[in-house]
Amino acid sequence: MTLTDPNSWHPIRPGERFRNPWPASEPHGLGDVLRFFRESRSRPRAPTPPRGSFPVATPAVAYPTAGADERRATWIGHATVLLQLNGVNLITDPMFSQRAFPVQWMGPRRVMDPGLALDRLPPLDVVLVSHNHYDHLDRPAVKRIARAHPQATWVVPLGLGGYLRGWGAHAIVELDWWQQLEVHGVRVTATPARHFSNRRLGDRNRSLWCGYALDLDGWRAWFAGDTAYHPQFGEIGSRTGPFDFAMVPIGAYDPRWFMERVHVDPEEALRAYGEVTAAHRDAPHPLMLALHWGTFRLTDEPMDEPPRRALARWREMGLEDDRLWVAAFGETRAL
Ligand code: ZN
Ligand code: ZN
Repeated sequence: MTLTDPNSWHPIRPGERFRNPWPASEPHGLGDVLRFFRESRSRPRAPTPPRGSFPVATPAVAYPTAGADERRATWIGHATVLLQLNGVNLITDPMFSQRAFPVQWMGPRRVMDPGLALDRLPPLDVVLVSHNHYDHLDRPAVKRIARAHPQATWVVPLGLGGYLRGWGAHAIVELDWWQQLEVHGVRVTATPARHFSNRRLGDRNRSLWCGYALDLDGWRAWFAGDTAYHPQFGEIGSRTGPFDFAMVPIGAYDPRWFMERVHVDPEEALRAYGEVTAAHRDAPHPLMLALHWGTFRLTDEPMDEPPRRALARWREMGLEDDRLWVAAFGETRAL
């Protein structure tokens, strides 16, 4: 395992807070947060669909690993993806709890159960965590994975390691944006995202947020993390692409006046996809897996709207339907 540090991006000292580097890219302040909650009762809000409303599939996980020249992805739900790349097993943002909240008796509850049970995970080599929000960093899941997969290396953005250490994880590597790590033959690069972090009172932006680019012998994937639209998607593509597979969030965007600073909507997600792929026009369009929808009721839009809008824009962009993967929960695809 080697860590390279081409240029530490965030000149931050302990005790300082992380920031998005682009103009007007900070999330709304307290006044707007209060307005958001005050108006939440009067805003039109689509009903939450009953549990189990979305399609499920039987996962085709390879145990213990995929073959030497084989790659598979399984969408477990939300931003949780099991990647089996040749002999290496990676998981993104492992979230398995019923609620994305500090306590399990209130807060956003699952509409869809995880498409693969936690105890059905193959032996994990790498766990990638994008940031500390409750729908991405799930303490019970971290504890159980740390116990059941003690060999796993945890890759997290700056400042996040402390949470994991307290929950039993051992090998933890914190990355700044653009920092790289080579682990089990996979080069992992933390990529910029426009978002924020917050988990408990007083810790806002004390840890960083990011996406991850992966490179395994020239096969490349990108996991966007949670992000609003920002001007550096093109640079992500030119520095760490061309990608064969892209995992991009499409949900949790209404009301727009509030959410546009933290989450892309489906059209912005595809704009980001277009910009990430723009630097390599001759490369085939990467398969895009749509993330961050259908699992938890987080925002106002109808829960089945994100994939519909994403597919409509995908077609407007002249892309082939089969390159946009709107997965069933638990669905596996060969990559
Ligand atoms: Zn988030
Ligand atoms: Zn999220």
